[in-house]
Amino acid sequence: MAAPTLRGRFAPSPTGRMHLGNMRSALLGWLQARAAGGAFLLRIEDLDRARCRPQFVEDLYEDLRWLGLDWDETPLVQSARDDVYREAQAKLTREGLIYPCFCTRAEIARAASAPHGLSEEGPRYPGTCANLTAEQISERSRTRAPAYRFRARPGEVRFVDDLMGPHAQDVHALVGDFVVRRNDGVASYQLAVVVDDAASRITHVLRGDDLLSSTPRQLLLYEALGLPAPAFLHVPLVLGEDGKRLAKRDGAFALGELRARGRPREHVLGLLAAWSGLGDGSPVDLPALVARFDTDVLPHAPVVARESQLLDALGLR
Ligand code: GLU
Repeated sequence: MAAPTLRGRFAPSPTGRMHLGNMRSALLGWLQARAAGGAFLLRIEDLDRARCRPQFVEDLYEDLRWLGLDWDETPLVQSARDDVYREAQAKLTREGLIYPCFCTRAEIARAASAPHGLSEEGPRYPGTCANLTAEQISERSRTRAPAYRFRARPGEVRFVDDLMGPHAQDVHALVGDFVVRRNDGVASYQLAVVVDDAASRITHVLRGDDLLSSTPRQLLLYEALGLPAPAFLHVPLVLGEDGKRLAKRDGAFALGELRARGRPREHVLGLLAAWSGLGDGSPVDLPALVARFDTDVLPHAPVVARESQLLDALGLR
């Protein structure tokens, strides 16, 4: 039987203009798919209505096209898919894996006990609402809209990252039961990303390693929903000279800015390739990068983007 075609994706949140760190993730996902003769999908992760703007979606399409990164199929737009997320949530609810949670952030912070109560994303949820009676639930619903949490089973979740190797996290101990629907009624990133990657039959997720700590939660959801999980490859981020990850606010690294300064795409690709172990910074085109792509050469540590290097590589000084 022929091996299933590789299906990769890029799933940005349109909360600002793309910067070169985002573009590098997009490029690597695209290269992985194209080098394998597979499909590359785009998904707009716009659940955070307060921070996402239609203009940023337009900019995103434009930036990707400018770089020459094409995509297959019609992009899924998360803000239009709530019924699908609700269906998945209903399935989990029928299995007894979801419960309403009425806690505020401050209450959770107070109840979480140090020293092991803190994960990097905040306090572990201590399970305050895990066993409320039907009466308590209806009583509390009168004054507050609940969030909904998934019961994380105790024990380590293990997977082998295609770049970073074996990884294990005890979600129950570190994060606790986690939110699948926020109390403003919006599906959480963790639920939406799993439902959508499964719906799109994604076989390979390549993304920044800022999401490595989310993957075990997502694997628990795949398991509970009876869905096949994709392979994961988390690539260390590009950092600014201050050691912080490049952000959409770092204007110098915004693709729109480089385009405005008339930089040819081969220069930009050369820089992205250099940050990925795929080149020395000299200008390069996409077909050459497809031929060169190899996950073995991807960096295992964060890459520091120096403005001077950027200016040199792009011939701006
Ligand atoms: N939308 C997420 C972000 O922009 C990425 C989600 C993912 O790749 O799983 O950070």
